Amino acid sequence: MLQLRNIEKVYQTKTIETVALHQVNLTIGKGEFVSIMGPSGCGKSTLLSIMGLLDEPTSGEIELDGRPVQSYSDRELAALRNQKIGFVFQSYHLINDLSVLDNVELPLLYRPGVGGKERRERAYAALDKVGLSPRTSHFPGQLSGGQRQRVAIARALAGRPEIILADEPTGNLDSVMGEEILDLLLHLNREGTTIVMVTHDEQQALKTQRLIRFFDGSQVS
Ligand code: ADP
Ligand code: ADP
Repeated sequence: MLQLRNIEKVYQTKTIETVALHQVNLTIGKGEFVSIMGPSGCGKSTLLSIMGLLDEPTSGEIELDGRPVQSYSDRELAALRNQKIGFVFQSYHLINDLSVLDNVELPLLYRPGVGGKERRERAYAALDKVGLSPRTSHFPGQLSGGQRQRVAIARALAGRPEIILADEPTGNLDSVMGEEILDLLLHLNREGTTIVMVTHDEQQALKTQRLIRFFDGSQVS
């Protein structure tokens, strides 16, 4: 569903040029669960941003469902990102003064054709799926790290994404909570969601279908 060809990403500042990705060729098939490992600074977050259409490569091609991403207008890209892709971050990125339910509804506010009633239903369904139905009116500050990450996953799910891109989703969690989050992602994957996850945890990575290792901007295995 997602194909990257000859991707290069160069960050240019006044004094230095950093090659963050070099000659990356990668295909993510529908329904796959792929994990990406590699040392800090090797380009994993950059890769995820490019896969998520948040950032453009310096050169190379990206195809989404067989169509070159370059052929979409900015507006179409924003819609694609909103509708097809769910993001989960290490540090959750929840809004602390919104309730759990409101956090989960938030991305649907910008979704054409989804009214208030459907938004609420989808948010409740997503929270049910991650086991947080009893916490819908809590605020993020009242939840554990694992629960916050489950809210973030519910927020991604409410958009019914085809692919979830997760950047170290268990990086801030202890091993028990990390395990819970991985189990949840494995479950969502079995239900059909494609997942790409950056992780530092080899045990977790080995539970996914495919492990890709990066070093210094390139895929090494
Ligand atoms: P990882 O996620 O594997 O830690 P990143 O993708 O964050 O790696 O970074 C890859 C390289 O690109 C690093 O050398 C980093 O310093 C550099 N880099 C990342 N973002 C920027 C940026 N906005 N400007 C300049 N350099 C950057
Ligand atoms: P870290 O791994 O350092 O905690 P995160 O996983 O929180 O970083 O974020 C990964 C990348 O995604 C960062 O480059 C950040 O700028 C970007 N990012 C974070 N939150 C959002 C968001 N809500 N929308 C788009 N991009 C984001």
